[in-house]
This record gives sequence, C-alpha cells and structure tokens, in this order.
Amino acid sequence: MTAAADRVLATVEGLADEAVAFTQALIRIPTVNPPGAHYEDGARLIGDRLRAFGYGVELLTASDRPEHSAAHPRVNVVGTLPGASAGEKAVHLNGHIDVVPPGDGWTVDPFAGLVRDGFIWGRGAADMKAGLAAAVFAVEAIRRAGVRVNAAIEVSGTVDEESGGLAGVAWLASRGRLSAERTGAVIIPEPLGVDRICIGHRGVYWFEVETRGRIAHGSMPFQGVSAIDHMSAILAAIDRELRPRLAGRKTELPVMPDGARHPTINVNAISGGQAVDGVQTPCVADRCRAIFDRRFLLEEGFDDTRDEILELLRDVASRTPRLEYEVKDLLIVHPTRTPNDSPVIGALDRALRRVAGRKGTLVISPGTYDHKHVARIAGIPHCVAYGPGALEQAHQPDERCAIDDLMTSIRVLALAVLELATATRIS
Ligand SMILES: [Zn+2]
Repeated sequence: MTAAADRVLATVEGLADEAVAFTQALIRIPTVNPPGAHYEDGARLIGDRLRAFGYGVELLTASDRPEHSAAHPRVNVVGTLPGASAGEKAVHLNGHIDVVPPGDGWTVDPFAGLVRDGFIWGRGAADMKAGLAAAVFAVEAIRRAGVRVNAAIEVSGTVDEESGGLAGVAWLASRGRLSAERTGAVIIPEPLGVDRICIGHRGVYWFEVETRGRIAHGSMPFQGVSAIDHMSAILAAIDRELRPRLAGRKTELPVMPDGARHPTINVNAISGGQAVDGVQTPCVADRCRAIFDRRFLLEEGFDDTRDEILELLRDVASRTPRLEYEVKDLLIVHPTRTPNDSPVIGALDRALRRVAGRKGTLVISPGTYDHKHVARIAGIPHCVAYGPGALEQAHQPDERCAIDDLMTSIRVLALAVLELATATRIS
C-alpha cells in the first residue's frame, strides 16, 4: 500500500499541466444553468477524456425529465474503470457540470479559462470544474502509476446541481445507476477548501404563503382588505417572534460558517397587487404571495420546523381580523449526515494527513448539494464532499481556484480512492 501510494503521489506531480488545461477546457464550455446550456458539450469533453484514460463511458440523457428539451438536453456522463475483482462495490467520484450565470462585476472574461497569478479564473473554476478535473486526474494518477485496485472506479459529470439535481444525480439514483448495491462510497469534489471534509448539510423547507384580501377602490381602502398589509403582519411576526427563537437554537454539529449553526429563514421573493412597472389603477391588493426559505437543523427535524411555521401563521391570523392565507410546500430536503466512522471519511483524513501534514476538519454545509440524492435516493451512506477551491468563491464575480489547491486535492483524492478501492468490501 505504501509503495503504491508513493508511486501514485510521484505520478501526480507529472499531471499538473494536463489537469490545469482540462479545467480551462471545462470553463470554456459555458454550461450555464439556467437554462442548462451546452451540457452535451460538457459531458462529451469529460467522456472523451475518460475514454482516452481507459474507462467505459456512458452518456445518459434524462429525456423523461420536464427540464430536458431538444434545445437544452440534460446529458450526464458516467465513466467506469474496471477493478481487478468483480465482486467489489465501486468507488464513485461525482461532479456537476453546470454553473450559475456569470452575473456582473467581472474583471476577466468568465469563460476564457484564464490562468494568472497561480489561479485558474472563470465561472465554475471553483464550483466545480476544478473539482471535476481533480476527480479525473486523481484516478488517472492511480492508473498511470500502474497500480491495480480491486474495486471499479467511476467518475461522473452530472447536470442541474445548481437547480436541484433532479435530472442529474437524483435521476441516476432513481434509475439505479447510482445505488447502494453497486456503489460503496461517493466523493463529491465541491469547493469546500482542501482542509475540510464535508459530511452533510442542513435541511431545507421552501414554502409559499399567499394572503387573500378583497379588492376595493384605492381612494377608500377601508372598503377592502389589503392582502399586502396582511403579508406585512406575517413578515413582522416572523421577524419579531420567529427569528429570535431561531437565533437561540444552535446545532451541536460542525456547520460552517458559524452563523449557519443557527437555523435561518429568508424571504426569497414577494409579490402582491399590481405589477409595479405596469399601468396602475387605484386598487386595494387582493392577493400577495411570498416565498420563504427556512434552513433547519438536524436537531429540529422537518415536522417540528413545519409545525412551528403553521402555528405562527395561525397566531397571526387569530389576532388579525379578516386575514386569510394559504400555505404551499415547495421543497423539502431533509438534513444529511455521514456517520463519523464512515470509511470514506477515514480514507480522506488519512490522505490529508499524509499529503498536507494536517488533520481534516469535518464540516457540515449551510446549503444543500447532490449529497442528498446519494443518501436519500441511492441509499448510499458513505458520501462526503471534498474538493479544491474556496466556498466563498462560488457564484462570485472573478471566481477562481488556486492551482496549488487543485494539485493538493488531486493528491488527497488519489490516496483516498486508492485506499477505498484497494480495501475489501465497504458494507
Ligand atoms: Zn457546486
């Protein structure tokens, strides 16, 4: 094992130029989501490289998903490098190929894949095209070192993580391509920082509240019921009553950053009455809708989280005459947490100590990523995120990833995959 690990680490050093160039090539394909542009080009670029590295490659299109279209096909790619023993479960590395739109404020071309000052620049450099390159070249270091492992190693590039991953990892899991029967461990190289091993995320409860009033002439608002006034009563109660309660709760788990150790609620959107930029007539608003994003802790659980919201709404309604409202659940994601004694955590931690001389910091992400589908749909308990780039870079202008981080993550991933794929069966 040690001799093999030495050979693998030595091989990584010769892969730097190829890994950087591959990251640049990925950035140059603007796989922007929404709408889900150029996914097929991205999947093919990864698939072609994996094929050249000896993998069997499948392009898997989620053509039965509503977000799939001829203009924006949802094409995923999965490469399989066979292991020496057919009975072993595969070690799977997964990255998403989509990126969020570039937005404003860039000082470089977001899709040029520029290399400058020791960084690779561009939309997706950190989140997570460097991570995809790290996955490809970590495995390639094992292969090029001539080390034969027992388990198959799979590398996948999947779509739509930024919009929920339903045509990507969730789709692969729901059709059994990613499953507990065939896959022993999953590593997702999201940009958490090269010293951190991410073992899960908080829960999400997205819901919509609609208040209904009664339309009337705007010169005589006392004759109507304003749905906007009633929504303000709800917002005020959330601010005065719910937020202090949430601030008083703190998880025992290592959620980072520190502020996210408390549960949170955000108003994502609000709309009521007439369109502000439309032609105005004097009317009392008879409808107002708001979308809320409540992030909850493992300790809170979903049922109590939802009950607390419903009770708050009932309270506001009971003290506000004529307040009528309706609540609709939009998205529920339960928190996930990988067990502390999971072999995938142990393998990454040992690899990190060897490569960087430091212990890995276990963290829990404030937001969710594709881990939820691996855990909930595929039923694979052994999943973590570990990859290059800083989370603070994700979705920002002038997004970039340090080449040093890319190389560190390749070394760490290579040793961890070597251990996991060499070790006998992960239960
Ligand atoms: Zn990401």
